[in-house]
Amino acid sequence: MSRVLESTVKSGLSLDYRPKEVESEVREFWERMKIPEKLRELREKENVGELGWYEGPPTLNGTPHVGHARGRVIKDLRYRFRSMQGYLVPFWAGWDTQGLPVELEAEKELGVKNKKELLERVGEERFVEECKKIIKKYYSYWESADKKLGVFIDHERAYWTYKDEYIEREWQYLKRAWEQGLLGEGYYIVAYCPSCQTSLSNAEAGLGYKEVEDPSVYFKFKVAGSENEYFVVWTTMPFTIVTDLMLAVHPDHEYAKVKVGDEVWIMADKRVEPLMKELGIEEYVKLGKVLGRELEGVKYEYPFLDLVPKQREFEANPKVHTVVAEDFVDVESASGVVHLAPGNGEEDFLVAQKRGVPIFVPYDDEVKFTSDAGAFSGLFARDADEKVIDELRKRGLLIECGTVRHEYPTCWRSHHKLIWVARKEYYIWTDRINDKILEAAGKVKYFFEGPKNRFISFLSERKPWCISRERVWGTPLPIWVCEKCGHKTLVSSKKELLEKAIEKPEGYFELHKPWIDRFILKCEKCGSKMRRVPYVIDCWFDSGAAPYSRFTDEDFKRFVPAEFLVEAIDQTRGWANSLLLEHVILTGEAESPYRSFLFYGFTLDDKGRKMSKSLGNVVEVNPLLDRYSADLCRFYLLWKTSPVDSMIFDVNDLSKRPYQVLSTLYHLNRFFLQNAEYDGFDPSKYDLDWALKSGILRPPDRWLLSKLQGLIEKYTELLESCEFNSAMALLDDFIVGTLSRNYVPMVRRDLWSDDPKYLDRRLTIYAVLWETLNTLLALINPATPFISEYLYQKVIRSFKPDLPESINFLPWPKPRKDLRNETLERDFENLLRCVSLVYSARQKAGMKRRWPLRRVYVVAPREFTESVMRLESVFLELANVKEAFYLEDPSGIEPEYLDGCVDSAEDEVQVYLYVRRDEALVSEGLMRDLARRVQALRKDLGYVPTDILESVRIAGLEEGEVEMLKGYSETMLGLVRAKKIEFLTEVEGSREGWHKSRLDGRTIYINIK
Ligand SMILES: [Zn+2]
Ligand SMILES: [Zn+2]
Repeated sequence: MSRVLESTVKSGLSLDYRPKEVESEVREFWERMKIPEKLRELREKENVGELGWYEGPPTLNGTPHVGHARGRVIKDLRYRFRSMQGYLVPFWAGWDTQGLPVELEAEKELGVKNKKELLERVGEERFVEECKKIIKKYYSYWESADKKLGVFIDHERAYWTYKDEYIEREWQYLKRAWEQGLLGEGYYIVAYCPSCQTSLSNAEAGLGYKEVEDPSVYFKFKVAGSENEYFVVWTTMPFTIVTDLMLAVHPDHEYAKVKVGDEVWIMADKRVEPLMKELGIEEYVKLGKVLGRELEGVKYEYPFLDLVPKQREFEANPKVHTVVAEDFVDVESASGVVHLAPGNGEEDFLVAQKRGVPIFVPYDDEVKFTSDAGAFSGLFARDADEKVIDELRKRGLLIECGTVRHEYPTCWRSHHKLIWVARKEYYIWTDRINDKILEAAGKVKYFFEGPKNRFISFLSERKPWCISRERVWGTPLPIWVCEKCGHKTLVSSKKELLEKAIEKPEGYFELHKPWIDRFILKCEKCGSKMRRVPYVIDCWFDSGAAPYSRFTDEDFKRFVPAEFLVEAIDQTRGWANSLLLEHVILTGEAESPYRSFLFYGFTLDDKGRKMSKSLGNVVEVNPLLDRYSADLCRFYLLWKTSPVDSMIFDVNDLSKRPYQVLSTLYHLNRFFLQNAEYDGFDPSKYDLDWALKSGILRPPDRWLLSKLQGLIEKYTELLESCEFNSAMALLDDFIVGTLSRNYVPMVRRDLWSDDPKYLDRRLTIYAVLWETLNTLLALINPATPFISEYLYQKVIRSFKPDLPESINFLPWPKPRKDLRNETLERDFENLLRCVSLVYSARQKAGMKRRWPLRRVYVVAPREFTESVMRLESVFLELANVKEAFYLEDPSGIEPEYLDGCVDSAEDEVQVYLYVRRDEALVSEGLMRDLARRVQALRKDLGYVPTDILESVRIAGLEEGEVEMLKGYSETMLGLVRAKKIEFLTEVEGSREGWHKSRLDGRTIYINIK
């Protein structure tokens, strides 16, 4: 037993693959030896080039979940892959720290309900402290997740969007926009959250589409001066009738006049039948038709003139309360006539601007109607719906009132229904440079068509970007306005601010509210005081400024544009968008700050549902990795689905295929280590070149090496093109299929021999395995860096300690053309096809693979049989048949054998396996069955393959069998690696040390020492 222990200790590989133990050992090694730091230093010193990169910063208002892990694993894979290829990549972390989500949590912590209370009771200084506390808290979760996942990102050089140095550089973007006339104040329709009391960007509004219930109201507006003619209109937002200023029809569609009772209704012609059906009106008569454009200018009676006196004032403008013809009007639904409230809708707003119609916005900050709304004043907009419906009913203008369920944007944070409202805000007029933006976007590589189209179509919406936010915790909008003359100036650095200030905060200050507001500047025009506007800016602007703000000027030149970025698919509206817009503003060029962008899909729970807090099905990274292996998770996240698709994450899958692949890799290394160690293999002496020069490689070796070159080439391509799932499938196939299931059985018997005269053969196999395993570990390292580092240290470096200290320092494998042999690969493909046909014939006949058989006939076209013949000894070994015959036609099989054949066929290849066994074959089969049991027992008891047993005894056999087996003692000694063997009918003496085993339904006993 002592040899067993010694050997295990020396090998340092436990009997089983235990990923958690492997990972904690490697994590400790990386930390102790400062491997990530050394890798950075190495690439600073030696590189083949620099590839730009910057972090898409996680917002520090939540903990990382498995969807985030998917992105981080891809980033880390790419970093390790590029580093091994010799590139320097600034893989430095970054954190998004400002904005509404953080503020809302701080409010919760402080127990404040609204902005007013916040300012009065808490004060902005304390509030800012609380926000910082929150981001530090969340940062610790992310730091720990990165460590557990094995992400080599540099936390020391992280950027934090709230820091002064970041904000100052971010201001440069605003300055550039200001200089180009792209930043300014104006009215525009924004999505506004009445609960958070701030406007949202288009990107934010796109985040919270939900199915909601709204009123569905048909009403009519009377044609002015007519007897009984009405326009029929539909709305889901009755409160907008308060701000109504126009009706719109489509210019090119026909509108019908329809007699209903004693009234005449006007609506789109194609909508008459469906609408009448919907309204349950059976009796009606179409009177005539008119083109939409002919209705332009028709005046209608606005019904609430008595309730909203302001509306009467607007009527001084002749366009107010008239019909306009516009292309955007949809005639496929409702009545084909829409009413326009320029204060509450983007299209309405644009029509009003075009025609010089005023914008009526009688709302305060809580979107309650002001006194301008007359009888509606004091009501929250959406709460006015009911009153509006009532008033319509009183006036006999309500046709029908129901409800509708539809998709409507809600606040992604507070879940309130958003309201579109015209607000005076600061805008970046990105719509004016949209052509440049689209041109820049067109030069980027997106890897997959779907996300690319989604991104380009989002960019094509060409909307101005509302960047002002009426909040506290954000980058201040650095615009100062003169109290007296209204002159504005934009300040873009701390230095400039200090120089220009005539009043400044006392003592400590930072570039945040409230300190920033204590700076008073002097107006260059009139000498009066200038105060800062009250806004902070959209936090999406912060992260979009990363390329310039996170680097120094010098690094900006080195690393921008980035070579490769990757984020989740929802970032088409988010970071990918803001990066691009800001970069075009900064440079003034149609240039993207990234050369390629991979958008990856959502991660769903095991039932295919979206993960959400309310469902309680969010898989958090930290607890997940406390229980499960990081390598298995990493492999799984890459292997399961294409990065572009939504992925179903089922933790139970980790122990299935991913475990099998990594465990096989582990055992292949262990197998190699144990054998090679036993023979004193020295890779410096017996390397591949030695084997090639000596000309002693056999076909299986040359085949494996050829397949390996193909693997390197294809796998590298797949990593480049981000087809990670296919790349992992390729590794899986090579490790489990080519190497473990095919190559090892082809050479196992060669390794079994102890004979010194076969030592060269064994050394050749070690040289081949050494090359193969080294390559495999390097290839898999970017995906599963723990197991690769572990085996590199414990196996590879145990033979060659002068190799680089970490596997991450190795160069990326390159395929060797001289090792590629496509003819040989085809021969083996044919051979393996034949072997699998033999296996299925065996299965039909109930013949175990271990039982040797006398002969097999391969019937196939000559070209095929010739390729198998070239590899005959391998074929016979794998098929476990004594002799093979090759024919083009089955009629050539001798009748006396044909009778005992079982056949199996696929396409043009047939195999006839002669399955009758004489006594010798039966005995040999039994011997192999028993040898297999002994081998299993050896393994269970912890013997390594190279251990030689003192004795093997097998009992529970029949007398005839004992007799039969006598002639096979020698062969069996070789197979089970023992010095002595005994076959017995019964257990002799005590049962101690005897192990039960099953053989074809009966019990036998084995004792080994
Ligand atoms: Zn909100
Ligand atoms: Zn002034």
